[in-house]
Amino acid sequence: MNLRHDYRSAVVRDERFLGHKTGLTHPENPNRLKAIHRLLDREFHDLKRVEATPATLEQLEFVHTPGYIEKVMKTAEQPMTSLAPDTPASAMSYLAAWLAAGGCLNAVDALMGGRIDACFALVRPPGHHALPDRAAGFCIFNNIGVAALYAARHHGLTRVLVIDWDVHHGNGIQELFYQEKGVLYLSSHDILLYPYTGTVEEAGEGEGEGYTVNLPLPRDLKDEEFLGLYKDILKPMVEGFSPQLIIVAAGFDGHRQDPIGRWDLTEAGYGGLTGLLLEAASGVGRPPILFVLEGGYDPPSLARCVGEVLGVLTGKAAGGANHFGESPRVAALLEEIKKVHGPYGVWI
Ligand SMILES: [Zn+2]
Repeated sequence: MNLRHDYRSAVVRDERFLGHKTGLTHPENPNRLKAIHRLLDREFHDLKRVEATPATLEQLEFVHTPGYIEKVMKTAEQPMTSLAPDTPASAMSYLAAWLAAGGCLNAVDALMGGRIDACFALVRPPGHHALPDRAAGFCIFNNIGVAALYAARHHGLTRVLVIDWDVHHGNGIQELFYQEKGVLYLSSHDILLYPYTGTVEEAGEGEGEGYTVNLPLPRDLKDEEFLGLYKDILKPMVEGFSPQLIIVAAGFDGHRQDPIGRWDLTEAGYGGLTGLLLEAASGVGRPPILFVLEGGYDPPSLARCVGEVLGVLTGKAAGGANHFGESPRVAALLEEIKKVHGPYGVWI
């Protein structure tokens, strides 16, 4: 099925995200967003904008400890320092981090207020590895964690679905909501990469049992396999949970040209996945969707992937996921997931 969609879409875009400098050789650098900005200027200049304003201290404390927030603030005093071995910070990094979280919150407000149907927060630093008291994996604040908790506390939402399609496991998001049933967290990732977590058996605890769903996928994963798996999972999950808001941890480091990820996906794969998500969402009254940029370290292919997602959202591209591969290794994984998650009755 190749439906054309017409989501009223916006982006969070701000030059100040370029002020987070990470050094000459770091893969998470300003060139990533520069490539995306050029794409927006070329093909999507008519998109609405959601402003990025700094999150408040109280909002950051939904997730982070006061001591850690102060540590981030102090990085402003030096031209270059580091918050974690892989997470450097320049003098303006604190501001970019504050704006990244705050931009996501403004997007939640715009979505929940009905002004738009979808928003892509094109932010950096990324967030899904960030923990309450420390930076990790290029991430400073857990942008999606703060946004999901803001949606719950400020807008009263009780069902937020977070879909993390970055090639890395979003351990920071998983940890935040591991014992919660208000956030259903789905992650597909290569478990042989950092942070080496996210087994099928990690499925939540206590009230959150069954509300964490991990799909550890094999190396050299192809579009057809990726889409085949999501085709079988997204519809029952979206219909079973009936989210009031969907947040996508949109990392594109599974692209075949990515220098870090080892998957073999193309931009068409991400477009197809967006199409599948919108089809599933149409079965439950089209809840608003927030995409938040996570990884993706080859700037040209990263920009093309973002373009695919925006194209499918706005109806410029059909995003037809026509090629679903029957792959024994993915079929085996699906069986394993059903075996682990069936008994919880959350979405199967
Ligand atoms: Zn990643």
